[in-house]
Amino acid sequence: MKGRLALLLTVALLAVAGWWWQDRPVRPRVTTRLLMGTLVEISTWGVTEPVSRRAVGLAFDEMARIEDRMSRMRPDSELARINQAQRGELQPISAELAQVVARGLEMGRLSSGAFDIGLAPLSDLWGFSLEPPPTRPPPPERIADWLAQRARQNGNGIALGGTAENKIRLENAGVGLDLGGIAKGYAVEQAVGILRREGVHDALINAGGDMRILGSKGGKPWHVGLRDPRDPQGVAAILDLLGEVALSTSGDYERYFMADGVRHHHILDPKTGQSARAGLISVSVQAPDAMTADGLSTALFVLGEQAGLEMLRHFPGCEALLIRADGGHFQTPGFIGRWVKGP
Ligand code: AMP
Ligand code: MG
Repeated sequence: MKGRLALLLTVALLAVAGWWWQDRPVRPRVTTRLLMGTLVEISTWGVTEPVSRRAVGLAFDEMARIEDRMSRMRPDSELARINQAQRGELQPISAELAQVVARGLEMGRLSSGAFDIGLAPLSDLWGFSLEPPPTRPPPPERIADWLAQRARQNGNGIALGGTAENKIRLENAGVGLDLGGIAKGYAVEQAVGILRREGVHDALINAGGDMRILGSKGGKPWHVGLRDPRDPQGVAAILDLLGEVALSTSGDYERYFMADGVRHHHILDPKTGQSARAGLISVSVQAPDAMTADGLSTALFVLGEQAGLEMLRHFPGCEALLIRADGGHFQTPGFIGRWVKGP
């Protein structure tokens, strides 16, 4: 009888402990999923396991949904449908895609065309998104043809909205949509909205070069490191981030190959048709939201230090850390970060 009571008591205690364990805030809970060509990691803090599991699952699903719509490499995405359509004719476009295209066009204007969401045909020539990745540059005459086609265009060759709501027109074969420089930021920002809606107020999303912080890590800042562009194991700067902050990095080390001693990488200069070489090898931008940070880091990379910092002035609350080809660096006064790499 006594033994039975003890057993019952133990079982009851275990049940209570199990319940307490499951409902107790876990810290931090880290989950990863392969999305948008990169390993996306979401860390949550201060919520119970079931709340975190549900919120993170929904956040990943939202990012997958956006990838399905905006990926250039998926033949059935909305973006691919627009790219495959007849040039010179109005095509329907969803309000969501139009919103991201509009932001991309605005970044294009503010960067005097250095940021160019219409360069898909050039991206296709280089093929950095293909498997296996390229090892040789495209034939120079193909790039010359593309530049000639562009020169015949009206501006960037993209007409959005205007008199025809929710319509887009691509002018000629020299223009096609590539949102690779901005859509990941949009997806991360949408994911943040889902986390918040699901009751998560402290989190970190890391999607390759695009990071977004929400709240704190148990009252302390989220501690993140920025990669040394020439040492995969090394850290160039460390940051303690709190609250609503996004941080995006664009670098010439992310997708590249060497040919005849020259580094060719995935951030392209629409003026030359070649990889951007404006004296920078890495650009990190801190901004209030991930889409702005993503677009700006790519734009500043193409523009280089002087013109890049001029563009940044149009974006209140945005700061940057630039790493130069000679290893030197510059950071704007409000950039939250400590350079640790040495002089
Ligand atoms: P990110 O890694 O955010 O700097 O973006 C690089 C991606 O943006 C590339 O893989 C292309 O898809 C796209 N891209 C390349 N060059 C440009 C450019 N000059 N303007 C806008 N997008 C670009
Ligand atoms: Mg970007």
